[in-house]
Amino acid sequence: MKQIQVIEVQPQGYCGGVLKAISIAKETRAKYPLETITLLGNLVHNKYVKQALELENIKTIENKNKTRLELLDEIDQGIVIFTAHGVAPNIKEKALKKGLKIVDASCPFVVQTQKIIQQKIQDGYEILYIGKYKHPEAESIYTMDEHVHLIQDQTIPKLDTEKVFVTNQTTMSIYDIQELFRAIKQAYPKAEFHDEICNATRVRQQAVLDLQGQGIDALIVVGDPTSNNTQKLLETGQQAQIPIGIKIQDINELDPNDLKDAKKVAVTSGASTPTFLTKQIIRAIENQDYSHHDIPIKQIL
Ligand code: SF4
Repeated sequence: MKQIQVIEVQPQGYCGGVLKAISIAKETRAKYPLETITLLGNLVHNKYVKQALELENIKTIENKNKTRLELLDEIDQGIVIFTAHGVAPNIKEKALKKGLKIVDASCPFVVQTQKIIQQKIQDGYEILYIGKYKHPEAESIYTMDEHVHLIQDQTIPKLDTEKVFVTNQTTMSIYDIQELFRAIKQAYPKAEFHDEICNATRVRQQAVLDLQGQGIDALIVVGDPTSNNTQKLLETGQQAQIPIGIKIQDINELDPNDLKDAKKVAVTSGASTPTFLTKQIIRAIENQDYSHHDIPIKQIL
């Protein structure tokens, strides 16, 4: 049997924002054992976390074709929990008008970005916000005010002012953001820049970039398809010149054929990926055991 050397890229497991959001949800259930509790969207981007919360009788409503404001129409009673990705002020207002109890599990780093942007709007700036359309964190910001303009690529809007403030979603690529900052600087030489990539995203991407030149044949990124920081880790693997990039949610999605020529494999995970899933993958590769594995949902939270 061919032995594969597995490098566990650090850090792994939940970031501080995800840990906080999960503990807020659990504390809310403990405090209100009989209340209907509904999450306005996925608390964090991981389907197993969603399933584990269902075991706590916390329901998630999600619909990728609806904004969070529209989704709120589906909650008519009890407690609504706002997710780690943050929430626009008009959603809070609408929830209160509906008579719902509000619990806010927004990550403090997202809240910080929102506050900086709100201050800059008050100071008369136009905001160029680099983020992903329909991602809940970006949506909570680009729906906030007409002075916020979403930037997704090198297409930069023409604004009738030099008073421009540039910032970004917390989970963008440290590599891409510098390229976009350069392009915006050319269009608006007097623009102010504020890089808001959070530390959890930054250190995970840097750890993958540091793999360059270490003879890694494949990078496995463990995380949910909807997780932006997971996707950015995969792209960072390409920037680190790692020949094969594989993104999976759990061991059962791993195709052993993808590793048939690999001798050295690195494994990393998104900031909302339960450590259990990553460890399960590492053990399976080390033991060359690609049989079906059960995912014990109770161990996820
Ligand atoms: S990835 Fe960053 S912004 Fe997102 S929840 Fe974690 S710490 Fe907060």
